[in-house]
Amino acid sequence: MAANGLLNSKTIYVPYMCDHCYVLVAALKAHGVRAEALPPSDDESLAIGLDLCRGRECLPCFTTTGDIIRRAQQPDFDPARSVILMPTTTGPCRFGQYTALQRNFLEQKGLAGLEIISPNAKNSYQGMGDNPTQLRALIWQGMVAVDLLQKLLYQYRPYEVNLGQTDEIYQQCLERIVIATEAGGGKRTVKALQGAARQFERLPVDRSEPRPVIGVVGEIYLRLNAYSNQDIVRRVENVGGEVMVASLMEWMYFTNWLVKEFTWSMGMLLSFLGMTAVDKYQRYQETKLSQTVAHLLNHPHEPAIGRMLAHIRTYYEPYLGTEAVLSMGKAVDFGRNGVSGILNVMPFSCMPGLITAGMAPRLRADLDHIPWLDVIYDAQEGTNLNTRLEAFMYQATQFQRRRVKVNA
Ligand code: SF4
Repeated sequence: MAANGLLNSKTIYVPYMCDHCYVLVAALKAHGVRAEALPPSDDESLAIGLDLCRGRECLPCFTTTGDIIRRAQQPDFDPARSVILMPTTTGPCRFGQYTALQRNFLEQKGLAGLEIISPNAKNSYQGMGDNPTQLRALIWQGMVAVDLLQKLLYQYRPYEVNLGQTDEIYQQCLERIVIATEAGGGKRTVKALQGAARQFERLPVDRSEPRPVIGVVGEIYLRLNAYSNQDIVRRVENVGGEVMVASLMEWMYFTNWLVKEFTWSMGMLLSFLGMTAVDKYQRYQETKLSQTVAHLLNHPHEPAIGRMLAHIRTYYEPYLGTEAVLSMGKAVDFGRNGVSGILNVMPFSCMPGLITAGMAPRLRADLDHIPWLDVIYDAQEGTNLNTRLEAFMYQATQFQRRRVKVNA
């Protein structure tokens, strides 16, 4: 397929948030767009970001800024033949300001020619190939596949018999999903997941001592970006837990829900119906893909967003939006599905994260006082995170035992 528009001679660079980034790049390539994932953040990119930012921005701004500049300063990088893909948003949170700020930084660094694009429905996904609708469907399919693969990883790794084997299998399966996406997805992605199911079925595990399950909620970038969250999933596993992380697709369903609520309330019937159709299609794809691994997962399907958000109506109006709504809804959903602790991760001074932390006592009171830990990240390597996690895991283990006794 040939790419369209002004960008067809340029390479689109996608900042790495999580492994879903690789299927996004693969889908772009499948649609004839030159694309490349930026390498994951590291100490160098964080240092660049911190040096440029003033300190009042949030952590994802530091790392994404640093990731862009780090790559742009490499000798093989040609700003005139490159474009950065940086999603944006509207609303109260600072994410909507990242691109404006990053354009300033590029100018400061003599990289004014390097474009930043934020494709969305309003600009008709300019530069995103000739068939943006098909492209979005392909991206969705790939992202759901990676979400499912990560669920397998988190549910199996803590119990593996041979250290490191689950990670190896995960990487192999991820690569197959990426290849399937680049080849156009569809049945290829289904097959890649079926292959993953076979590999996980054969993986030797020892579940004789079930671990307390910890539900991770909070700001999406931090939750999914291992560098920024200081590898929180592994840390919890290292102190004896099993982790369930709120998925990326949950966020997509949430934005669908918000658009549907808005268009319905404004009487925009056509837009409402259009979004309802998108939502239904995405659910259909999710169901089809999750069937391949459902027999291996405790919670293969994403809960309906409307139902999940209804859980929090007594505390907070979901239509107020921001990630606070999702984090609270997911925390209640996790709590009702048997997790033994909630970990709420957030960048320092993150408004939605702080709302969630503020509401935690009320949520916990209705969830049998489930252990809850807010972890705030400010780009400093804290020395006491492990100690706090150990204490939290102790509480979660007690909670798990109490629950088992009550249910016996
Ligand atoms: S959700 Fe929080 S961390 Fe993310 S951009 Fe908004 S304010 Fe910053």
